[in-house]
Amino acid sequence: MKFSLLALLSLTLTAQAAAPPSPGAQFQAFKVGTYSAIALVDGAIQEPNDGKSFVVGRPTAEVAAVLKDGGAPGDHFEFSIQPLLVHAGAHVLLFDTGAGNYFGEIAGKLLGSMAAAGENPATVTDIFISHAHGDHVGGLVTPAGMLAFPNATIHMSAPEWKWLSTMSAESAKNIGITQVTALVGAIRPKVVAFEPGADLLPGVVKAVAITGHTPGHSAYRIGSDPNSLLVFGDAMHSYVVSVREPSWKVAFDSDQQTGAASRAALVAQSAATGQRLYAEHFPFPGLGKIVKSKKGDVWVPETLH
Ligand SMILES: [Zn+2]
Repeated sequence: MKFSLLALLSLTLTAQAAAPPSPGAQFQAFKVGTYSAIALVDGAIQEPNDGKSFVVGRPTAEVAAVLKDGGAPGDHFEFSIQPLLVHAGAHVLLFDTGAGNYFGEIAGKLLGSMAAAGENPATVTDIFISHAHGDHVGGLVTPAGMLAFPNATIHMSAPEWKWLSTMSAESAKNIGITQVTALVGAIRPKVVAFEPGADLLPGVVKAVAITGHTPGHSAYRIGSDPNSLLVFGDAMHSYVVSVREPSWKVAFDSDQQTGAASRAALVAQSAATGQRLYAEHFPFPGLGKIVKSKKGDVWVPETLH
């Protein structure tokens, strides 16, 4: 009997998409080339499929059909939150920081997950922020407003830092930052703003500008090819809809048209190159690739043991 690779792949995909996350999982170790990496649970967010909370401009029934076909519930979106820690020689790198105490009980578990993985926040040397939404920068500070990673340099693109550091309290609340003055005051001495696309730690971390989500949204490429990992920030949120219908507009994007174009380009390029990807909002641990299938481009999670 002969199976086509694509048929096998779609079987695998369906099986993996339907599998529930292991209960109580807090972290997942894996390798990026010779580097040791750990996906760290911070929490999860749900948004209704109501035509305005995530996907905009498409009938909710059409969105539900795509979700169900991808093995997800049709009435809502589930977004995991999982920052990434990488040991690269003497550097201890953290990619985004979760929501801290900004989202209440549903998130803010990063420090607990790090402790479970045997990691000490004081040893983190470099934090790379994809963008200044609450679920990515909230964990930079403790509930008392102190730096959660006191010895780390905080890398953020110059347009993103300008946006965050001049934001009104009301605008900040709309993007999930409940105490923007305290946040900016605490992190200011540690922030090193970079030009989009900068080579930040040569050979280790390079910024990759992906425009549309926020004024200075940045992905990061870790390591060098063929073993590199692209941490794409919030260029995609839903492992089903963002991959299958990347040109649909998303309420979270500050420039929805540019965001959709960037996402479509990222999906097409990832499917063409087989780039290994790290997705902060896809089902835990968020590691995988985008592959062309008979259903179009689909997310295929990496199987880890
Ligand atoms: Zn996010």
